[in-house]
Amino acid sequence: MRVGVLAVQGDVREHLHALSSLGVQVVGVRRLRELDDVDALVIPGGESTTMDKMVRAFDLQEQLRKRIAGGMPVYGSCAGMIMLADRIADARPDQETLGGLDITVRRNAFGRQVDSFEEDLDIPAIARMTTVPEGHPAAFKAVFIRAPWVEELGDDVEVLATVKTGAAAGRVVAVRSGNLLATSFHPEVTGDHRIHEYFTQMVRAALP
Ligand code: GLN
Repeated sequence: MRVGVLAVQGDVREHLHALSSLGVQVVGVRRLRELDDVDALVIPGGESTTMDKMVRAFDLQEQLRKRIAGGMPVYGSCAGMIMLADRIADARPDQETLGGLDITVRRNAFGRQVDSFEEDLDIPAIARMTTVPEGHPAAFKAVFIRAPWVEELGDDVEVLATVKTGAAAGRVVAVRSGNLLATSFHPEVTGDHRIHEYFTQMVRAALP
């Protein structure tokens, strides 16, 4: 099993590290032939407008859409969630996504004044399938950085986590639909790799 991390923009290195610490063979994906070589893909956080431009500039958009439509497992974090969304509530005028995930996301949804914050989340579907790493709490420490949230979801989209407290309580911040997984937050920076582990289980299950 070989997992790629889309490496045109964003926090690529942290995802490569999280995956390789789980013993997964990883590779940065910047070219078509690199994309052809992977069984699954992580789309990191960063800036979705820039990432969209780069994906088009590197001629990756069409093939990425084909692979997603063909069932390739993809995990999108933050800007990666935006790239996977079928609809953006407040896209830049020329902004496109790869799509595949039947959701509407709102960019920078938590307010521009709230640049970043942390919050403990319950993610029962993932907690069930993984073990808490030593030294980490049972809850998932979620780091939000100019994060989107999910505003509308199609019938086939499963909610994995919502914000528990504060003004954003109840907002959807983690979803799964088929082989697509997306989180508003950045699990790659916490040292708790349960979300990546869960994703690798999805990848294994999807292998022929
Ligand atoms: N606000 C960014 C965007 O719209 C996402 C931020 C992130 O990935 N940390 O793409």
